Amino acid sequence: MSNYSKNSLQLIWQKTLEQIQTGAFFDTSIFHSYIADSKLYDISNNSAVVLTSTFVSQQVFEKNAQIIENVLSDVMETPMKVTFCQKKDIKDYSEMNEESKKIILEDKLLDKYTFDNFVVGHSNRESQAAALSCAVNPGEFFNPLFIYGNSGLGKTHLLHAIGNYVKEHSPEKKVIYIYSEDFISLIVNSIRDKTIEEVKRIIEEADYLLIDDIQRLKQGERSQEIFFNLYNNLFAKGKQIVLTSDIHPTELKGIENRLISRFTSGLSVGIDSPEFETSLAILQKKLEERNEQILIENSVLEYIATTYSNDVRELEGNLNKLIFKAILYNPPIIDLDFAILAFKDDPNHKSPGNLSVSKIKKAVCDFYGLTRTQLESKTKTTNVSNARHIAIYLCRKHLDMPFAKIGAEFGGRDHSTIITSYEKVSKLIKEKEMFASAVSKIEKKLGF
Ligand code: ADP
Ligand code: MG
Repeated sequence: MSNYSKNSLQLIWQKTLEQIQTGAFFDTSIFHSYIADSKLYDISNNSAVVLTSTFVSQQVFEKNAQIIENVLSDVMETPMKVTFCQKKDIKDYSEMNEESKKIILEDKLLDKYTFDNFVVGHSNRESQAAALSCAVNPGEFFNPLFIYGNSGLGKTHLLHAIGNYVKEHSPEKKVIYIYSEDFISLIVNSIRDKTIEEVKRIIEEADYLLIDDIQRLKQGERSQEIFFNLYNNLFAKGKQIVLTSDIHPTELKGIENRLISRFTSGLSVGIDSPEFETSLAILQKKLEERNEQILIENSVLEYIATTYSNDVRELEGNLNKLIFKAILYNPPIIDLDFAILAFKDDPNHKSPGNLSVSKIKKAVCDFYGLTRTQLESKTKTTNVSNARHIAIYLCRKHLDMPFAKIGAEFGGRDHSTIITSYEKVSKLIKEKEMFASAVSKIEKKLGF
């Protein structure tokens, strides 16, 4: 458990007691009644835990803590801090309750989340690269690594991917993955069961400490105190710490400033909603993993990717829903008509009836991989202006908006510019097949 074997701890304490005795710091009878039968329980970094046999001997030690610390520092040849506990207050892990054992001793890593099946795109490139770097070079570059982003964007996936990578490439390394609410229960339970010292020792042995959803740590100051110490000890030993949260570390509420400043001292990376191409690639990957004998037209995946791209969990959930309906109704192929019918009760479902300018803009941006600001800007690069012309065309065609109003929606352009865009697209659709097909794909995603 500790960096020191039981034998070494015994030897160190024997030497310390000898020096205390020869130094005549205590009356002989006091030494024999209260000091002599103590034990050195653990040394970790520069702190030691000494076990005393009774409450009175604990008091004697605490009153004379400075002497004990000085002598132990001499023996260890380094400054030491000492805490004193009664023997009866320390139990080993065999006495931990079942819930705590599960949290701390069981392998929590889910095999299904790996780097291999994590689709990388613009929205998550940085967090994936940082996570991989921590898996390969622990404690070296980014410590701690703090990954933040909305729910359902792949933070937990990356945390498990780190753990699974280490398990595969360095099986001798110890990885602890803890969901932060479990961490709180663990601390609360083990304080109650008097196994907290044991829990601390187990955690401090970890080479990787992966804590998920750290924003939930806020309840319980005692757990923050313990976390703070564990964190410092692991960090001092160069062990890799990775944390995830649904908000940026500086926005964490109810977490002490000294912890927040530690969280931001390494690298904080954000993870965003996937853009259209990444959403599509994720859907293709998930479908591939399921190994279903179901034919799904690509336009259907494109439709799901456009409609649900804010959250990967939702994206996946809707793919599952579609597959479930396909199993139920057994169509020869899943095409757009089948998909639209399958999602018809969904509030996000796009039907021509609830079309809006902003939905048109989103569909066009997703298709061309642009941001809304780019679409509305004055940029004249072919890609951006084609996208803008198409969005304008669709607003006129499907929403029947006055040209001037469309102009106001697109960065305050005057109505003649809008007419030019509309006419340009109408002409290109007739003349260029590729162009016509792009417009029709976007229309399909909008539910036409
Ligand atoms: P978070 O922890 O950010 O709330 P999760 O890691 O639980 O999100 O991800 C939700 C689901 O989305 C998981 O099934 C995960 O596998 C999947 N997912 C998220 N991002 C990706 C990605 N880039 N590639 C593949 N699957 C992803
Ligand atoms: Mg998560």
